[in-house]
Amino acid sequence: MTVRIAVTGAAGRMGKILIEAAVAATGAELTVAIVRPGSSLAGADAGELAGVGKQGVAIVTDLADVIDRFDALIDFTSPSATLANAELCAKHGKAMVIGTTGFTDAEKARLLGYQSQIQLCLAANFSTGVNLCFKLLETAARVMAEESDIEIYEAHHRHKVDAPSGTALRMGEVIADTTGRDLNKVAVYGREGQTGARDHDTIGFATVRGGDVVGEHTVMFLADGERVEITHKASSRLAFGNGAVRAAGWLLSQKPGLYDMQDVLSLR
Ligand code: NAD
Repeated sequence: MTVRIAVTGAAGRMGKILIEAAVAATGAELTVAIVRPGSSLAGADAGELAGVGKQGVAIVTDLADVIDRFDALIDFTSPSATLANAELCAKHGKAMVIGTTGFTDAEKARLLGYQSQIQLCLAANFSTGVNLCFKLLETAARVMAEESDIEIYEAHHRHKVDAPSGTALRMGEVIADTTGRDLNKVAVYGREGQTGARDHDTIGFATVRGGDVVGEHTVMFLADGERVEITHKASSRLAFGNGAVRAAGWLLSQKPGLYDMQDVLSLR
């Protein structure tokens, strides 16, 4: 079955990538692209905006006007825009793939309220490789945690405003959950001066910012006499775009509910 995809925030960094990914995917068809109300891009061709050639999909500014033209909305915008879109999608029974980050607890609770009406797929990172790493980390933590110190390193481009990355934090959570620790109590986010010897149960985070690094994460399990490193390197945002388009197709055959990429990739 071909999933008809709508991309909102189409002019954004991820919006353009999502258009590219939807156009390239088999089993998916880009049918709608949406930009902010008042945008001068209204009426332009979505494929041309994304640099993948004319697709015959004219950009629109109002989701309500095109609600019958898609099966799943992929939304990587802002919390307020995503919430407004979710309300409309819930009313019309449209699935949503949500990559937007930065929701407050109250916003997240409102968003999750729609899971009884529609299929929602939420993930802080839609890359297949990162989601595989989450699974590998469970195994590594089970086998290695007792005898090793665990440190997480991440690097991102100079424009990233938060640290550590949501993905690094999620990696820390996976390890903490697997080993019965509370990340809030064991995370160490920086070291300077007389830090004292390392406490075995801590999980250290190190952050690098600069250049155009799309995203790198390495988790080290440092034991006496050996070390295991699990590394993921994203070289293009297409890694996130392809995952989101895959999620949209997968959602079509699911019941209303809340899902993430671990479900999409059958990694549970
Ligand atoms: P961006 O600023 O380049 O693009 C955001 C787009 O959303 C813009 O085109 C903007 O016009 C549109 N938008 C914002 N508010 C809107 C509103 N109220 N109405 C209509 N349109 C609105 O940002 P980006 O780098 O593309 O990232 C977008 C979001 O996706 C961020 O929250 C980012 O953290 C997240 N992200 C998630 C993943 C993942 O894998 N989950 C990967 C990359 C980015």
